[in-house]
Amino acid sequence: MNTGPYLNWIGGEWLAGNTTTTNINPSDLSDTIGEYALADAGQVESAVEAARSAQRSWAETGLEKRYQVLHAIGDELMARSAELGRELSREEGKPLAEGKGEVYRSGQFFTYYAAEVLRQMGETADSVRPGIEIDIRREPVGVVGVISPWNFPMATAVWKIAPALAFGNAVVWKPAELVPHSAWALAEIISRQADLPAGTFNLIIGKGSMVGQALIESKRIHAVSFTGSLAVGQKVLLATAKNMVRCQLELGSKNALVVMDDANLDTAVQAAVAGGYSGSGQKCTASSRLIVHEAIHDRFVEALADKLRAMTVGPGLDEATQVGPVVSAQALAGIEAHIQAAEKAGAKRLCGGERVNAATDGHFLSPALLVDTDNTMTINREEVFGPVACVIKARDFEHALALTNDTEYGLTAGIITESLSHAYRFKREAQAGCVMVNLATAGTDYHVPFGGTKASSFGTREQGQYAREFYTEVKTTYIKAG
Ligand code: NAD
Repeated sequence: MNTGPYLNWIGGEWLAGNTTTTNINPSDLSDTIGEYALADAGQVESAVEAARSAQRSWAETGLEKRYQVLHAIGDELMARSAELGRELSREEGKPLAEGKGEVYRSGQFFTYYAAEVLRQMGETADSVRPGIEIDIRREPVGVVGVISPWNFPMATAVWKIAPALAFGNAVVWKPAELVPHSAWALAEIISRQADLPAGTFNLIIGKGSMVGQALIESKRIHAVSFTGSLAVGQKVLLATAKNMVRCQLELGSKNALVVMDDANLDTAVQAAVAGGYSGSGQKCTASSRLIVHEAIHDRFVEALADKLRAMTVGPGLDEATQVGPVVSAQALAGIEAHIQAAEKAGAKRLCGGERVNAATDGHFLSPALLVDTDNTMTINREEVFGPVACVIKARDFEHALALTNDTEYGLTAGIITESLSHAYRFKREAQAGCVMVNLATAGTDYHVPFGGTKASSFGTREQGQYAREFYTEVKTTYIKAG
C-alpha cells in the first residue's frame, strides 16, 4: 500500500498541510501504515467556506441524483468491505471480522439514507383563518461539522455524514487523528462522486485541540454532530452554545448487563463476552458492569472466566484473533491503572488483565474479569474503555435495577432473564437510551434511533428517521390564494 502522504480533501482539492501524522498499527508497532497531512486552522476556515458555497447547489440537486450519489457511496463501501475492513483493522486493531463488518455497515448507512432522500415528505394544514393554507417543509440546516472518535473510525462518522448529505447539507469532517486511513479512504470514495458539487464534503485530519477546536468555535457553521468523550463533548457544547450553533453529542457510558437468577447461563455468558470484550471493550455500548443476582453469581463468573481464559488475544489481522490490541500505549497504561486501583480498593481479578506477548509487538491485554467490586469503586464509575468487566452482586431485581441506574451515564442497559415481568419492568425503568433483553448491550441496528440518556448523549437522536430532526430545519409557510 502507498504510504502517502495522504492529503485532506478541501473544496474539491487534495491539499497538504504544514505537518503530517504517522499512522501506526497497534497490533504491530513496526508496521507504519502511512503519513497523513494535518490540517491547520486556516484550512478549517477554507473547508467551512467551501462548504458554505457548495451547500445550496447540493440542496438544489434533484432528489434522484442525490439518491444515486448516496447509493453509489454505499455500494462501493459494501463491495470493498473486505479490503477496506482490513485497513480499518490494521489501524484500529479490532479483529478482521469486526473491521469488515464496520465497513459493510457503513455502506448500509449510505444506502439506507439514499432511500430516505426519496422519502422527504412535508405536511399541509388549513389555517385557522379562512382562505389560507399552510405548508410545513423541512430544509437543510446548512454546514454540519462532524467530529468522530477512533473506536469506530468509519461507522461513527458515516452515521452523521450520510444523513447530513441525504437532507441536503454540506459537511466538514474531522476524524480522530489516531485512525486517519479509514477517514481518507471514505473521503476518496466520496471525492469521486461527480454529482456532488466540490466543497459539499470536506475532510480535515488534525489535532482535536487545534482543528477540532477551530471547527466547533466557527461562527460560519450551522451544526456540530460530535461523538467522543464526555470531557470533550462538554467543550463542544459550550463552544457551540456561544455561537448558537445546533449541537448533538454522543458520549461515554458505563453500561450494565444484569444477569438474573432465572437467566439462561449460556445466553448470559455469550452476552457478557460479546458486550464486554468485542472491540477489546472499546465500545460506547460495552457492558463494563455485570450486575449479577447472588443466586447465580458463582456459576456465572466461573463460566465467564473459563470462556475469557480460552479467548485468543492477538493481532487484529490474524484470522484466529478474538481480542485485538487496545488502541495505544497510553490507553493500555490507563486500563492497567484502573485495574490496579480497583484491586487496591478490594476487587479480585479472576482472570486476565495481563500484557500478552503475541507474534508482533502490540498493545495487547488479556480479557480481565474483576469480582467483588461494588458500584462506588472508581472502576465502576468511570469509563475504562478496555477488555475489562466488573461483577457487582445484586440481592434481587430491585437492587439490580437500582445499581443499573446508579451512574451518571445512560447509553445502553441489558438484562438476561426468563421472567417476562422483570424484562418488562427493566425495559421501562432502566435509565438508558437503548435497552436489550437477552442480548448483549453492544450491537445495534441502523434503521432505528440510537442514543442515550443523562451524560451519554445531548440533543436529538442519531440514526434511522430520527436523524431528520438534527439535519433539517422546519419551515412553516402560510399561503393565501390571490
Ligand atoms: P475524544 O473525546 O478524545 O475525541 C473525539 C474526537 O474529538 C476526536 O476526533 C478528537 O480529535 C476530537 N477532539 C478532541 N479535543 C477536541 C476539542 N477541543 N474540540 C473539538 N474536537 C476535539 O474521544 P475518543 O477517545 O476518540 O473516543 C472514545 C470516546 O468516544 C469514549 O468516551 C466513547 O464512549 C465515546 N464514544 C461514544 C459513542 C456513542 O455513540 N455514544 C460511540 C463511540 C465512542
